[in-house]
This record gives sequence, C-alpha cells and structure tokens, in this order.
Amino acid sequence: MNLTVYCASSNRIADVYVEAAAELGELIGRGGHTLVYGGGRVGLMGVVASAVHEHGGRVFGVIPKALRAIEGVAYEVADDLVETQTMQERKALMFNLAHAFIVLPGGYGTLEELMEVLTLKQLGYHEKALVLVNTASYFDPLLALFEHFYTHRFVSPDTRALFHVAATPAEAMRYVLDYSPPRSGTVRTKWE
Ligand code: AMP
Repeated sequence: MNLTVYCASSNRIADVYVEAAAELGELIGRGGHTLVYGGGRVGLMGVVASAVHEHGGRVFGVIPKALRAIEGVAYEVADDLVETQTMQERKALMFNLAHAFIVLPGGYGTLEELMEVLTLKQLGYHEKALVLVNTASYFDPLLALFEHFYTHRFVSPDTRALFHVAATPAEAMRYVLDYSPPRSGTVRTKWE
C-alpha cells in the first residue's frame, strides 16, 4: 500500500513527536508498505523515512528542485526520489500515488497539505482514507476550530466523517488498513 505521510520539517520539536513518527515508520516498514512523502531528511520527515527503511519498507520521496538544491535537506537514500519543478507538481504526485493519507504533527506546510486533501475529499474528488495522528493532543486546537466551523454552519457536520483522528500511529494504521470508502465518488458540493 502507498501511504502518503504529511509531517513536520522542524527538528526543534519535543521527543514525543519524534517517537510517534519513528513508530509510524516502523509500522509502515514492517507492513511492507511504501512511504510516499516530501522527500526530506529533516524533521519528522527524516524520522519516518529512516524508520521505514530500517524495518524493510520502501521510501518514495517527491521533492521540488529548489528544495533539493539546499544542502542536506533531501533524503538522498530514498528508493525513489522524484524531483519536481514546483511545489504544486509535487503535491499532485504525492496525492495521486496515495492509497491513503496519514498526517502527523507539523506546521504550515503540513496544514496546507491536510486542507487540500480534506477539501478535495469534501467535494468528492477522492474517497481515500485520511487520518490525523493526534500525538500529545497536538491537533486539539485545530479540531476545536473545525467544531467552530460546524457550529456556525460554514461546514456541514457530516464532514467530520471525512477524516479520522487517531491517538496513536498503531490506531492510524489500523484505520487505513480497514478503511473502505463510504460511497462511490462523484463530485458534489459540500451541502449535498
Ligand atoms: P511544515 O509542516 O511547514 O514543516 O512542512 C512540512 C510539509 O511540507 C511536509 O509534509 C512536506 O511535504 C513539505 N515540506 C516543507 N519543508 C520541506 C523540506 N525542507 N523538504 C521537503 N519537504 C518539505
């Protein structure tokens, strides 16, 4: 299974996040899956990628040319490292290759990737599993913001079902492996 993982590029984060990223990488590797991700060796990206490799999985990185040119940023030992011209091209490839999406804690980049996949799913462009790993309740403020959207009817409460929140990487893996799409994919508005 190709698992696209979105996660932090920061190295300056607490150990609890690093441990969860390593655990996810181990589960991906042991399961014989392929990690599809941003191709970095920095932050949680590097942690997940090395753990996948250590446990026998495949690593498929997708990195824009400009980022790869920055010394030390790319995970050069990936099994595949595709260089794209733009961030947009990179996101499209990571999206198209994915059988499921797993989101670990991250910053603006991770949030942007999550929101793109979520809004595309809301509109019926895809029906792939989407799960957030809520390590140390990191995503609670974002989930509270989503509740605010539902309360004020900017977003339909049904859309809560478009993603799953897992407390641990193991729960996230179980979710993606057991997932079956709820309905056949047709593009629709969010209120249908
Ligand atoms: P952030 O959450 O802002 O740290 O951004 C991380 C996300 O954006 C990852 O899932 C990557 O896809 C992408 N990204 C940001 N910075 C880099 C980088 N230096 N190398 C590779 N991917 C990156």
